[in-house]
Amino acid sequence: NLLATPTQFSSLEQALKHFFGYETFRPGQREIVESALENRDALIVMPTGGGKSLCFQLPALLKPGLTVVVSPLIALMQDQVQALQDNGIGATFLNSSLHPMEARSREVAILDGEIKLLYLAPERLLNERCLPFLDYVRSRLGIAGFAIDEAHCVSDWGHDFRPEYRQLQRLRQRYPDVSIMALTATATERVRQDIIEQLWLQEPYIHTASFNRPNLYYEVRPKPSPKQAYKELLHQVQQTDGSGIIYCLSRRKVEELASKLQQDGVEALPYHAGLSDEARATNQTRFIRDDVRVMVATIAFGMGINKPDVRFVIHYDLPRSIESYYQESGRAGRDGEPAHCTLFFGLGDIKTVEYLIDQKNDAQDQLIARQQLRQVVGYAEGTVCRRTIQLSYFGEGFPGDCGNCDHCLYPQPIEDWTIEAQKFLSCIARCQERFGMNHIIDVLRGSKNQKVLQNNHDKLSTYGIGKDKTADAWRILGRALLHQGLVEETSDGYSVLKLNAQSWEILKKQRSLLIAVPPTPTYAEETDTDG
Ligand code: ADP
Ligand code: ZN
Repeated sequence: NLLATPTQFSSLEQALKHFFGYETFRPGQREIVESALENRDALIVMPTGGGKSLCFQLPALLKPGLTVVVSPLIALMQDQVQALQDNGIGATFLNSSLHPMEARSREVAILDGEIKLLYLAPERLLNERCLPFLDYVRSRLGIAGFAIDEAHCVSDWGHDFRPEYRQLQRLRQRYPDVSIMALTATATERVRQDIIEQLWLQEPYIHTASFNRPNLYYEVRPKPSPKQAYKELLHQVQQTDGSGIIYCLSRRKVEELASKLQQDGVEALPYHAGLSDEARATNQTRFIRDDVRVMVATIAFGMGINKPDVRFVIHYDLPRSIESYYQESGRAGRDGEPAHCTLFFGLGDIKTVEYLIDQKNDAQDQLIARQQLRQVVGYAEGTVCRRTIQLSYFGEGFPGDCGNCDHCLYPQPIEDWTIEAQKFLSCIARCQERFGMNHIIDVLRGSKNQKVLQNNHDKLSTYGIGKDKTADAWRILGRALLHQGLVEETSDGYSVLKLNAQSWEILKKQRSLLIAVPPTPTYAEETDTDG
């Protein structure tokens, strides 16, 4: 018998303990393992860090034959194989980075039954030697199952489409009786359907885990002025123990911030695509090994990095979308211990992102980016539990009151700004729904700028009726109206505010506008010139 695996466990828990040293399964894992032991196809949707690997690794150890794992990232593959080997489990990988001699010797080990888990890059399957080799493995040892990691890569609706993934259909065609487990952290319904169709999954067992990460504390902090923001950031970094990642938008900011932190005695390194491969690799390793505590990075950092004990992730600039925010902040607390996710949010950042969006060439890209920006700002300015907002983005209802976000722990005072909303909306009407937010605010605040005077808007009844509030306060109001769907923004070249049915309900006093007031007088500063 070529199977070197102990199969005599009295329970799955015992096997779990034996191979991985864990006492209990995480929610869902046991059922998934059972379905795999019954050779059923499966689709597993779990957030990153949820414990997907175990779902195919444990069955692989309990079933006769070889389990083939398809994984798109060579670095990830190496990490997983290393971790398994460290646990004394027979695992190996084959990919293009290997010397042919080394690949040959791994194949021999597989045929000798020393290997239970074989990791492959998807393009490897196209290699003419690969499928015949698997045929041979099947005839000698049997194939226990296929696990397709990052399965959303088969879908062009996902964020990471890889054409090679479509080739995986060949596995189903060639080995129709071998079960396939597809795993992903991408939650949208459309992508799920695509995975089932593209991989020809047959009546799969479907497990969708909650995307809630209860150990992560979410907060949004105001970013008043650069100086003040840095002070707060430094304070927070000094207050928190353990490793952390700080995300910035640009390479220049990454460099600046990293060296500032160093000057202030924080061990920090930069990471961005402008550094040499070597510098990036070194910095990354030093961070993972805890030589340095803080990585200041662009979003180039993080994909496939497995550091379980990241204690904080700070976004010093706005993330691109709620999903990116979820993924990036989710690099904190993979070990399940408490960790902090902070988003610094200042009004100036919106302008920066808007500027970047304007630079894009593709109108469709711009449209999507604008919508994503609006959702991110909606999150930052949201008046309910941060989890509720994030999870609703993934189609997951969450009742709120999570007890582990800034809103739930320190609710902001809610103020009734209906009268202000009426002023704002009637000013839009007086300007004949042909102007953007900055202009409306200029008129409300009685500005004497060119555009106001040229249009005779200083003659309007709404001219100057909003002097009592700062431009930024008006902007908060304007955006709250937008988020709550109480006014429309159309854009053909420049944005224009237009009233809708809901606006009229406010104007007719049939509806009110409640606003969560920012905690500090952050917004008192004048940043606006007409844009
Ligand atoms: P994913 O692939 O979903 O991102 P992983 O499989 O890498 O997640 O698992 C994330 C972490 O959780 C790993 O450190 C893993 O060892 C740990 N883990 C998984 N299952 C369990 C369990 N049942 N008990 C304790 N820790 C677990
Ligand atoms: Zn909450």
